[in-house]
Amino acid sequence: MEDLKYQIDLLTALNERLLASEKMYRHIAEMSGTLFVYFDYKCSPAKVDLVGPWDEMVGEKIANHPYDESYMLNLLVEDDQDKFRIHMLEVEREGLETDSVEVRSRNKRFWFSCFVRVTYDDDHNPVEKIISIKDITKIKMNSEELEYLAYYDSLTGVYNRNYFVRKFRDMCELADSEKVSVEIMFVDIDDFKKINDSIGLLFGDELVQEFGQYLKDFNNDDTIVGRFGSDVFVIAVYNPCGQRSCDVIYRKIQERLRHTFVLTNKTEIMISVSCGVAEYPDAGRTALEVIKNGEIVLYKAKERCKGGISYFELDILNSFLKSVSLEKQLKEAIETNGFQLYYQPQYNASDGKLRGAEALIRWPDPEGEGFITSPNEFIPIAEKNGAIIPIGNYVIKEALKTMSDWRSKYHIPMVLSINISAMQLEKENFVDSLSHMISLYGVNPESIEIEITESVFINNFEDVIDKIKTLRGLGLRVSLDDFGTGYSSLSYLKNLPIDTLKIDKSFIDTALKDDSSGIIYESVIQMSQKLGFETVAEGVETREQFNYLRDRNIDIIQGFLLGKPVSKVEFEKLLIRQTA
Ligand code: C2E
Ligand code: CA
Ligand code: CA
Repeated sequence: MEDLKYQIDLLTALNERLLASEKMYRHIAEMSGTLFVYFDYKCSPAKVDLVGPWDEMVGEKIANHPYDESYMLNLLVEDDQDKFRIHMLEVEREGLETDSVEVRSRNKRFWFSCFVRVTYDDDHNPVEKIISIKDITKIKMNSEELEYLAYYDSLTGVYNRNYFVRKFRDMCELADSEKVSVEIMFVDIDDFKKINDSIGLLFGDELVQEFGQYLKDFNNDDTIVGRFGSDVFVIAVYNPCGQRSCDVIYRKIQERLRHTFVLTNKTEIMISVSCGVAEYPDAGRTALEVIKNGEIVLYKAKERCKGGISYFELDILNSFLKSVSLEKQLKEAIETNGFQLYYQPQYNASDGKLRGAEALIRWPDPEGEGFITSPNEFIPIAEKNGAIIPIGNYVIKEALKTMSDWRSKYHIPMVLSINISAMQLEKENFVDSLSHMISLYGVNPESIEIEITESVFINNFEDVIDKIKTLRGLGLRVSLDDFGTGYSSLSYLKNLPIDTLKIDKSFIDTALKDDSSGIIYESVIQMSQKLGFETVAEGVETREQFNYLRDRNIDIIQGFLLGKPVSKVEFEKLLIRQTA
């Protein structure tokens, strides 16, 4: 009896231990995120057991069902059962864990990775089988998304920069071996910044998206499309010939752009694009060089005329490289105070008396005799990259210093004209800082004239007019330079608060050559005088021109005939002669 009780206690204890360890294994299986299906073939029909997070994978339906293999499959995969079954058989045969299998079930895509292990008896009958199934859908989705992000531009669906460059490089390599070429075309929406400002960033994005999706359709075996920047797209064509070329694509784009893009807020937008084309291997030794040069062609094209297509030329590249190197030198010159001011005299036409001078900047070559380049070349670069601000400050300061010197030394009443760029005038503190400097150097404001061109009125007409009025209120003179080269609308001219009008050199160059040009010059002088402006003729080179202008009652004459721009020291010689 004692013995029997002992046996029962022992069995109970063993059973408890077994139950505890089974519980532990089930926990471990559940935590592994893997579903284990256990088949016991010692029973007939085979006993099936499931361990792991089966409710997550197969749902509640399985709970009280007498499991068998096909029922389990039914639950796991509804649509792609055959595919899944074949896959499992393969896994079983190979005895390997597979990468993954993609199946459709319950209208969704699932990925499973599976592993099967079977044990056999001596007669090679299966005894037990364990299938482990892991749902890797989430991991797979994430990696697909990452893959997409790695290759595609998420806004438009065209290739992103990195992947485009890779594909373009591959194209160029293949082109080398097949002795053909690859074209690349940069496509850039004109005035995109302005469009963005007017419709807002969100709709700007939508426009880029629409346009990008349109371009995406050019993608095929020989053509790839990518996006490099906010509104910059690139298209590469392998072995261009006949109907397959960037030129043909450009024409198709032009066709499309005849119609508007309609945004979700119903705004209709008309755009134009500029395109720059470069070809491998003509436009560069490497794929990257061709890409770089294509971009240069684009920006040069934009400078020339918007809405067009330009092709790589060595001249374009050279002028670009020159401006890049000038830009670098310009920066150094600003840091080392490497500029100088020259002064060109201006005379009253009637009595030949000195009226004053125009201050003109010079950039001496620190290593040689002459100048690095003319202001006609470096001022536009400085205006583009912002260097005109420190350069302009130097000019103002130096000119005022000179004026202050001359005033104390020579006591000659004269006017000094200083050229001011649009960007300088647009600066908020321009008026304050100029008037501060004028008083700092003790200069009479009436002896200072600022020369501006019509371009200053383009961006902010009202603001500029206000500033000019304030400056004139302080006693300064304002002169409109290069008259006749810009818009020169007569109706706006009459409302400009200016003192002086400088008629551009190009007028006098032709005035004596043909009658109609002469008539135009004459009427410009008359108009200017009627509007009450002091009128200056620029670029007078010959005695004949001088006489012609004097006979037509021009007020002031400036030009090589009467004096070239000279250094401060040289100009002082002239002042000394005046005082003698
Ligand atoms: P601009 O303001 O129209 O200056 C007149 C230009 O014509 C000067 O060229 C002057 O040397 C040149 N010139 C004067 N008389 C004659 C002549 O009889 N024949 C010929 N062929 N040329 C004559 P420069 O000094 O080379 O300056 C060129 C342009 O660079 C200036 O044209 C002006 O737009 C700009 N610039 C020069 N200095 C400055 C400056 O300090 N600040 C700014 N913002 N621009 C400047
Ligand atoms: Ca000028
Ligand atoms: Ca001028």
